[in-house]
Amino acid sequence: MTAAYFFVASSLRRGDRAAIASDLVHFRDEYRDEGLAGLKSEAATQIWEGGQDIRLIRLLGAGRRGIFDLRANGWSKFNLPGITPPAGLKPSWTSIPAPPDDQSMEIVSQALPNGEILQIGQSTARREDVLERFRWILAAVFVLAIILGLVGAFLMSRRALSPIRGLVRTLEAVKSGAIGARAPLRHTGDELQELTELFNGMMERIEALVSGMKSALDNVAHDLRTPMTRLRAVAELPLRSEADVSDYREALADCVEESDKVLGMLDTLMDISEAETGTMALSMEPTNVSELLREAREAYRYAAEEKGLRVDVAGGEDIRVLCDRGRMRRVVANLLDNAVKYTDPGGEINLTATREDGFIAVIVRDTGIGIPPQDLSKIWERLYRSEAGRSQRGLGLGLSLVKAIVQAHDGSVEVSSAVGSGSRFTVRLKTVS
Ligand code: ADP
Repeated sequence: MTAAYFFVASSLRRGDRAAIASDLVHFRDEYRDEGLAGLKSEAATQIWEGGQDIRLIRLLGAGRRGIFDLRANGWSKFNLPGITPPAGLKPSWTSIPAPPDDQSMEIVSQALPNGEILQIGQSTARREDVLERFRWILAAVFVLAIILGLVGAFLMSRRALSPIRGLVRTLEAVKSGAIGARAPLRHTGDELQELTELFNGMMERIEALVSGMKSALDNVAHDLRTPMTRLRAVAELPLRSEADVSDYREALADCVEESDKVLGMLDTLMDISEAETGTMALSMEPTNVSELLREAREAYRYAAEEKGLRVDVAGGEDIRVLCDRGRMRRVVANLLDNAVKYTDPGGEINLTATREDGFIAVIVRDTGIGIPPQDLSKIWERLYRSEAGRSQRGLGLGLSLVKAIVQAHDGSVEVSSAVGSGSRFTVRLKTVS
């Protein structure tokens, strides 16, 4: 702004000087052509009529005595101090301040060939006037710019900080118990959006953990009641009546069996919760899945033979994948356990490991009782047991555990089944990460 002011001021000054210089030429020529009388009459005309800005026309003779001195109104008493005579015939400029009006007289002097000096002076009042108005405009623009800047900065900071305020409000809500509260997301594509997304993601995870723990606790409390009541009854009976050592032994053995069931159930529930909430620590290692299938067949050989079931492991080729071997063993064992439980004597069970595009698939197929279509989505729920399954031992946790472990591996598990002809469970694990 200062630069603009100085540019305008110097342009006006240049314009003024150009006008004075052209007046100087005009009067010099008049004096040369028409003599002193011509100069005087032209000066009188110009100073009062035409050239509103001309305030001084002076002709100085030798010894700088005044030959002719004409000044416009108000300038007659103006004290003209000695002006340095111009060197040679070139015009020279002098600026004399005329307080208190903030104006000055700009005078150009030129030596004439006969030794006399012609001076033309012009007030800078008009220029000062323009400049003063310009200064006011600049000041107004400056103040306006500052106000706009402040308002803009205030609005921008409000806007920029609004996601932070959203986060703060959400944190307050979470602190007062609303664990489902989420920070409002604005798609600005900046770091604050990233922060909000991370925060909301973190809250999703915390909520899943909390609700996982809560429902696990509910399930445990609910399902512990039955075996604990049984345990109590088994222990109570010999205590109430007279019993011999063998009765006590039998009761204690029953107690141990019931306790093992409770412990097994607790372990499984904990595993499911851990896997579902993503806190299950997987110890990944290259695993020969075909070998896992062969091991499982061996482990269930007795149970299968007892029911007259044939268990086959398909394919001679060894399929390997990166997974938690112990947990994958439990997946296969649970699927095979179900196949054995829910297949009538004389049936067949096939275990297959095969390569698919980017996956390995583990398939457990049986020719068992099958699952009714309306149960297909429910069998993965914790503690769910279908009507047909109730006759078999089980807690309704096997498939929940299978699904949780597979998902913790970033894999998938699906079932297809037809009542009366059998079921087929397929577990898929990624071979490339
Ligand atoms: P559980 O076997 O202890 O009841 P699961 O979670 O392993 O619990 O299975 C849930 C239910 O799914 C079972 O009760 C049963 O009705 C059904 N199911 C699972 N596997 C099979 C299968 N291979 N054939 C028929 N039904 C099955």
